[in-house]
Parts: sequence; structure tokens; C-alpha cells
Amino acid sequence: MAAATPARLTVLSGPSGVGKGTVVAEVRRRHPEVWVSVSATTRRPRPGEVDGVHYHFVSAAEFDRLIATEGLLEWAEYAGNRYGTPLAPVQAQLATGRPALLEIELQGARQVRARAPEAQLVFLAPPSWAELVSRLAGRGSEPAAVQERRLAIAQAELDSSGEFDVVVVNDDVARAADELVGLLTAPSPGPPAG
Ligand code: 5GP
Repeated sequence: MAAATPARLTVLSGPSGVGKGTVVAEVRRRHPEVWVSVSATTRRPRPGEVDGVHYHFVSAAEFDRLIATEGLLEWAEYAGNRYGTPLAPVQAQLATGRPALLEIELQGARQVRARAPEAQLVFLAPPSWAELVSRLAGRGSEPAAVQERRLAIAQAELDSSGEFDVVVVNDDVARAADELVGLLTAPSPGPPAG
């Protein structure tokens, strides 16, 4: 075992619509020093999303190439699109000795757990199911069938919160962001004493 505590990889996951993106945006605003991975996706950009900032928007062929060249730490298909974490930037960030934050869905979080068991898995939970449904409905940028699909996935994801190391409730964005930043820099749990 290395003498120094290695830089921590933290994964933030949770159902679509719970506000992961909003909490991470608040983390960036309040703590610009925090490094957040930019995922690759085959999804089309939503209005206001910028290539290279919110996501790397890539073609299906480019995503295939990323998988084939083992360029992704994890990837998953979600609601008809593929999403993945570019590996090299995460490795480069951890090599600096500073923490890295990923914001991904549950299948990807499970892959990170299998591949990097020392990673810290954080589940962002809504204050209630009713609140989550109203947030998903309020998004309004997608057809009803897509929203229904997201709700079904969200229900399954809520049932999986027990697989995570920590649950953060998104009752208040600023509070949740601060709690997350505290977790990023918290020392990893060491081996049991004695
Ligand atoms: P959205 O299309 O709403 O931006 O994202 C849909 C879902 O994909 C969200 O739950 C988001 O956290 C997840 N996601 C974004 N990037 C990645 C990624 O790199 N890997 C995985 N597995 N999921 C991701």
C-alpha cells in the first residue's frame, strides 16, 4: 500500500431530474478549483449546452472508436443515447494529487466501483418521489415518451441507493454542493484499526 493517500475519485450519481447537473454547476460556481470530468455522449445538445463544456458531443462512430481504443473509464446506454467518461483526463487529474468528480448514471457508477474499488460513490437523492416527478415533468424539453422512460429508470435508480457509500439529499442546492465538496476532500477510510 502506498504511504501517501492517493487522490480520490468521487462519483456522483442519482436519478435523472434529481438535480445532479445543478448541484455540480453550483460546486463549480462556489469552488472553481474542483475538477469535474466532461463526458462524451451521442445525445444531441440541448439549447444552451456547449460542446467541450457540458459534454463532448460525438457521433455514434466516434463513440464506437472510444470504446474500441479503451478510451473510456466507463460507459452506458441511457434513454437511447450513449454516455461515457474519457479515461485519460481522469488519470491525469488524479496524477496531480487532486480529487476528480464524475457525474454519471447508475450503470456507469457500478462499472467504476468494479474497476476502481477505492472510488467514493455518492448518491444524490430527491427530498421525495413527488418532488422528482414534478422536476422531470417540469423539464419540458423532451417528448412525453422520453420523460416516461426517464421516470421508469429513475424509480429503479432510487431503489439502488443502498449500493452507495454516501447519500446526499438535494433539499437545497447550495447545501448539497457544500456537502459534496466536503466529501471530495475527506480522507479515504483507511484499513480497520487494531
Ligand atoms: P442527460 O441526457 O440528462 O444530460 O444525462 C442523462 C444521464 O446520463 C444522467 O443521469 C447523467 O448523469 C448521465 N451521464 C452523463 N454523463 C455520463 C457518463 O459519462 N457516463 C454515464 N454512465 N452516465 C452519464
